[in-house]
Amino acid sequence: MPKAIRIDAYGGPENMQLVDVAVGDPGPGEIRIRHQAAGLNFIDVYQRTGLYPLPLPLNLGMEGAGIVEAVGEGVTHLKPGDRAAYASNPPGSYSEARVMPAKNVVRLPDGIDFETGAAMMLKGLTAQYLLRRVKPVEGLEPGDHVLFHAAAGGVGLIACQWAKALGLQLIGTAGSAAKCELAKAHGAAHVIDYSKEDFAARVKEITGGKGVKVVYDSVGKDTFDKGLECLRPFGLMVCFGNASGPVPPVNPGMLAAKGSLYLTRQTLFTHIATREATQQMADELFAVVGDGRVKIRIDQRYPLAEAAQAHRDLEARKTTGCTVFTMPG
Ligand code: NDP
Repeated sequence: MPKAIRIDAYGGPENMQLVDVAVGDPGPGEIRIRHQAAGLNFIDVYQRTGLYPLPLPLNLGMEGAGIVEAVGEGVTHLKPGDRAAYASNPPGSYSEARVMPAKNVVRLPDGIDFETGAAMMLKGLTAQYLLRRVKPVEGLEPGDHVLFHAAAGGVGLIACQWAKALGLQLIGTAGSAAKCELAKAHGAAHVIDYSKEDFAARVKEITGGKGVKVVYDSVGKDTFDKGLECLRPFGLMVCFGNASGPVPPVNPGMLAAKGSLYLTRQTLFTHIATREATQQMADELFAVVGDGRVKIRIDQRYPLAEAAQAHRDLEARKTTGCTVFTMPG
C-alpha cells in the first residue's frame, strides 16, 4: 500500500506519522496521481497545529507533482500517463499516491522536472495572484516600491524575482544577513534585516519619506502594526499568512488615521476556485519559470518519512527558498 504522512490529533511535528493508506479508483471529477515529489508549505504547519482546523485524521500536504494513473468520469483535461502538478484542497500530497479532485491539477510542461513542479505550484501561484491579481486602488506601475516580508522564504524568493521582472522596486525583509543577501541576489531592490533594524524607519528612508504602495505580509502578529506605518496614503496592506501568529482584531478607524489605507486578507484558494483560473495562473507561472525570469530554488530535500523534521526546520526559520519531499519508491 502507498505511504502517507497523517496526523490523528492537532499538535507538534511528533504527531506526524508515516502510515499505509488505501488508495482506490477516482470518482467523477477526480484523478489518481502517483507522486514523484511533494512540496512543503507553511500552511501545512497551520493545519497540523489546528490553527486552520480540518477534520481528523488528516493526510497533510497541499502541493505535489507526479504521474496521472487514472481519471474519473468527466475529467477531460488530463489522461493516464500525463505529468501533472498542483496546489489543491483538500490536503494529502505528503503521500506516494492519492485520489484527489482534478480541478486544480494541471499538466506539467516537459521542461519542468517533478521536484520543481512540486516546489513551485502553491508558492508560485501565490506569488502570481499577489503580484498580478491583487491591486492597490492607485494601481501598480514599474518603478513603484512595495514591501515584501519573509523575502528569502519559499513564496518570498519567487516574489522577489517576479517583482523584478515586472519592474517593481521590492523591499524585502528577512531574519538574518545571509537571508537578506539571498533575497537581494534574487531581485529584491533593497533588503532589511528585520531581526536587527526598524523596518518602518528603513522603508521611510528608502522611499524618501513617501512609503510603499503595497505591503505583502505573511508574518502576521509581529509585523502587522509596523507594516501599516510603511504605507503611503491609499496604500494596500495585503495580509496572507501568520508565520509569527495571527494578527489580533483590528480597529478600522486606524486605517483612516494612517491615510485612508486599504486592508485585505487573501487566500490562494479563492483565486484558484475554477479550473480555468487555475490554468490561466499556472500558464503565467510556467511562462516565467520556463524563460528563466523566475528560478525555483530548492534549498532543502527530505525523504517523506522525515517530514516532521522538515516542519521543525521550517518553524525554526532554518529554511530558505523551497523545500520538497522525495518519495520512498
Ligand atoms: P517560508 O519559506 O516563507 O517560511 C516562513 C518564513 O516566515 C520563515 O522562514 C521566516 O523567515 C518568517 N517568519 C517570521 N516570523 C516567523 C516565526 N515566528 N516563525 C516562523 N517563521 C517566521 O514559508 P512559505 O513560503 O511556505 O509561506 C510564506 C508565508 O505565506 C506563510 O505565512 C504562508 O502561510 C503564507 N502563504 C499564504 C498563502 C495564501 O494564499 N494566503 C499561500 C501560500 C503561502 P525570516 O527568518 O526571514 O523572518
